[in-house]
Amino acid sequence: MEINNFKSYCDQFDRASQELKLDENLASLLKYPDRELAVELPLIRDDGSLKVLRGYRIQHNDARGPFKGGLRFHPQVDVDEVRALSALMTFKTALVDIPFGGAKGGIQVDPATLSQRELEQLTRTFVRAISPVIGVQTDIPAPDVNTNAQIMAWIMDEYSQTNGYSPGIVTGKPISLGGSQGRESATGVGVSITLRETAKHRNMPLEGATVAIQGFGNVGSWAARTLHEYGCKIIAVSDARGAIYNKEGLDIPALLEHQEAHGSIHLSSLAEPIEQDELLCLECDFLIPAALGGVIHKMNAECLRCKVVIEGANGPTTPTADEVLWKKNIPVIPDILANAGGVIVSYYEWVQNLQRHYWEDGEVTRKLERKLVDSFYETAALAHSRKELSYRTAAFMLSIKRVAEAIEMRGRIT
Ligand code: GLU
Repeated sequence: MEINNFKSYCDQFDRASQELKLDENLASLLKYPDRELAVELPLIRDDGSLKVLRGYRIQHNDARGPFKGGLRFHPQVDVDEVRALSALMTFKTALVDIPFGGAKGGIQVDPATLSQRELEQLTRTFVRAISPVIGVQTDIPAPDVNTNAQIMAWIMDEYSQTNGYSPGIVTGKPISLGGSQGRESATGVGVSITLRETAKHRNMPLEGATVAIQGFGNVGSWAARTLHEYGCKIIAVSDARGAIYNKEGLDIPALLEHQEAHGSIHLSSLAEPIEQDELLCLECDFLIPAALGGVIHKMNAECLRCKVVIEGANGPTTPTADEVLWKKNIPVIPDILANAGGVIVSYYEWVQNLQRHYWEDGEVTRKLERKLVDSFYETAALAHSRKELSYRTAAFMLSIKRVAEAIEMRGRIT
């Protein structure tokens, strides 16, 4: 099914800006990206042939601080997707109140089809292509779908070669190169903290709560690990190759070992295989979409049987599906809150890079906890203050207000 991510985001934005009765021109300024860069990236393949790939860096808004957001390497990357994701970053950083704006970038490529050398070359070519618009105080990339600490290390190195040692140019780096304790696990841990607070807030027991997780990459696997430690029962997980189900709850440490050995959770003997689509429709307390956007849409929203959706991925629920879920009384904890743990710890990483002074793991975790819990209750309080307000609209309202205020205070409208 064709999903236009930018249209979905616009719908979410419009709803919140109407609730806020935002001036129409200010709303339009806030809604669309400030700057869009598309780049052509030549790559000499290992067999000597030339392939030209397309990349983007879209800077949505920097009124509250430097542009900030990840880089995605995926065949579905296109201008509309990156636009939507860049806007979500602006409102995510504003919602959790860290001094950044929002951006996103990516390359339209399946990195699984590239050798390690090709991946490194492509990353370095991309850094050179976007270097006029990024900078430690201007725009700071980070990992996203199919990008990792190694790729961030290449970015840091390529940028530093022309600009001098610049660890603060990118976050999500390996610890040995100025990465932060807790950054790798931050998004998944943040999803788990949000789920835990949601359970508390809605009087649902956490111990023994049943959870289905779509996606077992960085976000899904760290969420599974943390929730397992909280005493939740992870009854199903899936990745790009398949899905598995065990109503007694999966043995997550054993599953992680299986994934490590085989590169996938698929065919694990710990559980029975199910269809990937079935996972979304399982009866459970919490459903965590932690893969790509647009996976809960008008064709399948009706089948959901969870009590709450926690959005680990960016943009997993389309506006039409949101409406169906609202009618079914299934609350959705939105992406800009639920998966904000990653960018929160990115902020801590950047601060440590600027200070050249590094914190212990416990300090990072404590600060992350506090930020997320405060943001959760702020959002929940607004959502519960009016009858027709979803968590998503409340989250957008809080963040739009903050960005609008910064734009006005800076005198950007003259
Ligand atoms: N890609 C992550 C996100 O969507 C992290 C971005 C960052 O750390 O800058 O929030």
